[in-house]
Amino acid sequence: MEQNKQRTLANYKDKIHSCSKCGLCQAVCPVFQVTGNECTVSRGQFIMLDGIVRGKLKLNKNINKYLDLCLKCNKCSEFCPSDIDVVDILLCAKYEYFKKSLEGKIYGFLESKFIFNTILNIPKFLTRPLNNYKSKKFDTKAVYFGGCISNFTPNLNKYVIKLLNSIKIEVVPANLNCCGMPFLTTGNLDRFIENMQENIKKLPDDIDYIITDCASCEWIWGKYKKYADAPELKEKLDRIKIKNIYELISENNLQFESKNRYKLTYHKPCHEHCSDSIEIIIKNIKNTEYIELDGKNECCGFGAFEHPQTLKTILPVLKSKKMKIKSTKADFVLTTCVGCLVNLNFLLVVAQQKAKRLLSFLKDSCIINKTL
Ligand code: SF4
Ligand code: SF4
Repeated sequence: MEQNKQRTLANYKDKIHSCSKCGLCQAVCPVFQVTGNECTVSRGQFIMLDGIVRGKLKLNKNINKYLDLCLKCNKCSEFCPSDIDVVDILLCAKYEYFKKSLEGKIYGFLESKFIFNTILNIPKFLTRPLNNYKSKKFDTKAVYFGGCISNFTPNLNKYVIKLLNSIKIEVVPANLNCCGMPFLTTGNLDRFIENMQENIKKLPDDIDYIITDCASCEWIWGKYKKYADAPELKEKLDRIKIKNIYELISENNLQFESKNRYKLTYHKPCHEHCSDSIEIIIKNIKNTEYIELDGKNECCGFGAFEHPQTLKTILPVLKSKKMKIKSTKADFVLTTCVGCLVNLNFLLVVAQQKAKRLLSFLKDSCIINKTL
């Protein structure tokens, strides 16, 4: 793809050099905390990438193994005093490796438009009648982006429409694709850009918001601004605000009451930017008890799912997360990212506790006490 010709590691040379080697990223990197291996954290990765940019190292299978160990949790970027967008640079390195490796060809095939979209469209096709739920009309218009999993949850989509209608927002259909996170993390940047351009073009011109309840989807929609080069796409994205549904719930002071008495806890997804508001929403659900999860900010490790070796390496992170959830004795661990939801339920598969998307909990177990 023409625009991606500019996305080379060489173009990130100055950013890579701006790493002061302070090592602060070690304190927050969940992978480094388990491995203790410098090559698994940003500082060490930058030393390797610097070697590649200078032509002293080859971007081979071994270096790619370290790139895959990064969970793309973004914790190091948030902490980095040199303000380096670490994940962007590592993703560019993945892209360079993707273009020349057999692994890249395999992912390229599996993530091709026909195969990927066909798989995702099967549930959409099966649940079509329920997805046809109509919104009321209002001046403020939005598209709801619930992530790929919303193809399987038409009842939740219906609930979102009701919820947004209650605060005078019309929900407009847009039939969007996946946000593209899987393409970005495997290094399939060409496919990511193609998918992103389609998504932006599919957005109706007259909407005010893209509303999502998934932290990772929202993070990726935020990245679109960085990757959309065409002026008409940039201009469209500048006009439309990306909004988290929980911010809207807070701003409109919607209150909830659980139909049954439950103990609740909350896992904060790495890409969640409004977790304080979310925690307040949960704490305020009447007829429930909130138990704070020790290490609620610690990464659940979902980013390792695509790579068995990475999964094996970070197994201690997963075990510790599971034990901490267990010790809360909560009935539900609520979360706000579809990836975390899948991973936490995998961890809790034989436990009494369940991970639940907060929005699903509100739909299934609560009534809205609207206090507008
Ligand atoms: S925190 Fe930032 S500047 Fe410090 S070593 Fe890590 S990547 Fe480099
Ligand atoms: S993005 Fe997360 S896993 Fe990757 S280097 Fe930074 S802190 Fe570590």
